[in-house]
Amino acid sequence: MITDGLLDELNRPLGPRMPAESAGLGACWGIGGGVRGVNDRWSLLVEGFAPTEYELVVLAKHYLDARMDIALIYRCYEQYGIDWCLKQAFADARLNTIERALGEEKYNAAIAKRLADWKQKFSDIEKQEQSLAPCTKCGARRSLADLANEPANGPAGLCAGCMPDEHLTPCANCGCERGVVGSAYTADLCWNCASERLTPCTNCGGKRRLGPDNRDLCDACYMATVPPCKYCGAKRYLPSVSLENDHGYCGGCTW
Ligand SMILES: [Zn+2]
Ligand SMILES: [Zn+2]
Ligand SMILES: [Zn+2]
Ligand SMILES: [Zn+2]
Repeated sequence: MITDGLLDELNRPLGPRMPAESAGLGACWGIGGGVRGVNDRWSLLVEGFAPTEYELVVLAKHYLDARMDIALIYRCYEQYGIDWCLKQAFADARLNTIERALGEEKYNAAIAKRLADWKQKFSDIEKQEQSLAPCTKCGARRSLADLANEPANGPAGLCAGCMPDEHLTPCANCGCERGVVGSAYTADLCWNCASERLTPCTNCGGKRRLGPDNRDLCDACYMATVPPCKYCGAKRYLPSVSLENDHGYCGGCTW
């Protein structure tokens, strides 16, 4: 049952210096940490900074793009990212605030062109979908999501209902059924067999992990070579770039 107390709790801003638009956006099923710019430290209001009208227009376009990007991806792929509900709700709330600050007329004029661009994108998508050939098996209309989910080397031209389940060939070593997750790193083997064939860590002789990067060290030995974040001092995850191109900040401190 939703009580008044619970509603008050949900509607309250998340904490000191948090914008009112973050209220009720503190938690979302399945998200451990915060969502950047929505309910984490990047969403703190900056004291002593009042935006100009021009800056508000730039922000309005930013939040319009943010929410329309999500809507467009959903329109094409029919899949939702887990934190998108929060990002969209926050963007909508910020847009409302900006509209109130600028006044309806000025706000509408400021984003009119951008909004028209987005409407055009959606009508282009609509046309693209209508021009898709029907399912070659049952004749049903196909969606762009059907097209996007078509396997690279599987049958083409089918609707979602007629698409066979994806199957990988069994492991070339042990013959077990292989999982799709991680199969990009295992060639024709299963995860276990491919892991067994990895050479040990050149530093400690320990087990290495299968992955996209072909380094000679195990995770622990590689981590020991990664300096902590220059800004907050946090221990960092493995950088996604080589150490000489590493910017030195942790994922929470940089964009
Ligand atoms: Zn079909
Ligand atoms: Zn195997
Ligand atoms: Zn090691
Ligand atoms: Zn940091």
